[in-house]
Amino acid sequence: MSSEELVRVAQQRGFFFKTAPSYPNAPAGFLDYGPMGVALKARIIELWRRMIVKRDGMIEIDGAQILPKAVFEASGHLSSFTDPFVSCPKCGSVYRPDKLLEEKTGKAVPEKLSDADYDSLMARAGVKCSRCGASLLGTTRFNMMFKVGIGPTGEEAYLRPETCQSIFVDFPLLYKTQRAKLPIGMAQVGRSFRNEIAPRQGLLRLRELNQAEVEVFFNPKKSDAPAYEWARGDVLSFRMPDGKDSQMSVDQALRSAVIPNMLIGHYLALITRFYEAAGVPRSSQRLRVLSDEDRAFYSKAAFDLEVKIGTGWLELVACNYRGDFDLGGHAKASGTDFTVEDSGEKVLPHVFELSLGVDRSTYVVMELSLRGEGDRRSLALKPYLAPVQACVFPLVNKDGLQEAARSIVAELRDSFDVFYDESGSIGRRYARADETGVPVCLTVDYDTLKDNTVTLRDRDTRQQERVAVSELASRLASITRFPRLGPTPEA
Ligand SMILES: [Zn+2]
Repeated sequence: MSSEELVRVAQQRGFFFKTAPSYPNAPAGFLDYGPMGVALKARIIELWRRMIVKRDGMIEIDGAQILPKAVFEASGHLSSFTDPFVSCPKCGSVYRPDKLLEEKTGKAVPEKLSDADYDSLMARAGVKCSRCGASLLGTTRFNMMFKVGIGPTGEEAYLRPETCQSIFVDFPLLYKTQRAKLPIGMAQVGRSFRNEIAPRQGLLRLRELNQAEVEVFFNPKKSDAPAYEWARGDVLSFRMPDGKDSQMSVDQALRSAVIPNMLIGHYLALITRFYEAAGVPRSSQRLRVLSDEDRAFYSKAAFDLEVKIGTGWLELVACNYRGDFDLGGHAKASGTDFTVEDSGEKVLPHVFELSLGVDRSTYVVMELSLRGEGDRRSLALKPYLAPVQACVFPLVNKDGLQEAARSIVAELRDSFDVFYDESGSIGRRYARADETGVPVCLTVDYDTLKDNTVTLRDRDTRQQERVAVSELASRLASITRFPRLGPTPEA
C-alpha cells in the first residue's frame, strides 16, 4: 500500500490528520489524532509499558513540558540543539542545506559539517532555490527549541525538545524516594517540541511529537551481569557504518565489539521484540550502527532502530549509550550530588537510552498492517492493538434484532471497546470495520432470538462461526490478550 493510501484511510477512519484541516495554510509539522488514533496510540504505549517498563521494573514519571533555561544550559541544548539552514537571498525561502544536498546528489550527507562546508558543497553540486532558481549561500544555525516566557516578566524557559531531561534532573530525588537500586530504568511518555526548519516529510517529521523514552541507569562495572544474558542468542540485523549489513546474535555482536556490553544487548533485543509484537517483522527491522563522526561527542555507542516501509528505511528509536554526560552535567550545573551507593562504593551512573518516536511508530504499525484487494482495505493490526475490539451488528433493523444487539454491546462494554453499527448493508459494515482494524464482527440475526448465539466473523480470514452470547466475553478476552512478557532479567 502506498503512503497516500494510508493517509487517506487514516483520515477517513479517524486515525490521524494534519492539524487545523479547515485552514489550508496552517504550518506543517503538526498532527491531530482522531478517536481511532487515540486508541491505537494508547495501545502501542501500553504494549511498550508491558514489554519494557513493567517487565524490567522501571519507574515511570510524567514531567512538565516547560523547563527552566538552566536545565537546557546544562544539557547543552541551548548551545547545540541546532540545525543548519540557508535562506534564499532573492525570495527568502528557507531550506536545510543537508536535505537539499541529499535530494540533489542522492547521497547521505555527514551529520557534523561546518556551515562553510555546506556552502561549498552546495556551490559544487549546483544547488538552487527551488522557488526562484537563485544560488544559495550563507548557511547558518537555528536553535530548534521553542522559547516561552513565564509570567508577566517573561522569565526565559523552553518547551522540552525531548522528554528525558526531566528524568535526568529528577534522578536523585526518585532514586532516593523510590528506594531504587542500580541498574534502574526510568521511563516517560509525553510530548516534546522541536521547531523544525522546513518539515517536508509530512506526518513523519513533527514539530510537536509524542515520545516514549527509557533511561537505564547502571554501574558501568556491572554492565555484563548474568541478568542480561537471556538475550544472548537473539539474532539482530546491523547496518554497519561502512554500509554493510550483518546478521549477528547478541553474543556475536558483543564478541566483535559492535555492542559494548551485555546490558545494551539486552535492551536492543528487547526493543526488537517489542516491534515484532507490534506487527513489525524482524526482517523489516535493522539497527544502524552510528559511526564516530555521526555520534554526539559524549556518546560511547549509538544505534538507530530503523524499519523498512514503502518510502525506505525510517528511524523509530534512537538507542544511545550516553555515559555519565547527562548526570554529570546536571550535577555540575545544579550543585546537587547525583552519585549513588552501589555495593559500598559511590557511583555516578552511566545511562543507556531508548528514545522511541510514538507518532512514527503508530504510522509504521498502520502502514505495515494495511492490506488491499481491489478497492477493499483491511488493517490487519495485532488484535491487542486494535482501537475497537469488536463491532456488533443487527442483521436487519426490525423484529427486535437491534435491541438484542444493543444488549450485547451493553454487556461487553464493561471490559472492551465495542462499536455498534446498524447503518448500510452488512457488507458495507464489514468493510468499514476491516478498514478500522476491528478484529471481530458479531452479527445478531433471527437465530440469535431462538438459541442466543451470534455469528463471529474474523477480520483476516473472513471465516464465520456461531458463538454463544454467554461465551463472547471470554472469546474476546482470549483474542485480544496482550502477549506474555517472556523471561525476566532475574530469571
Ligand atoms: Zn528563492
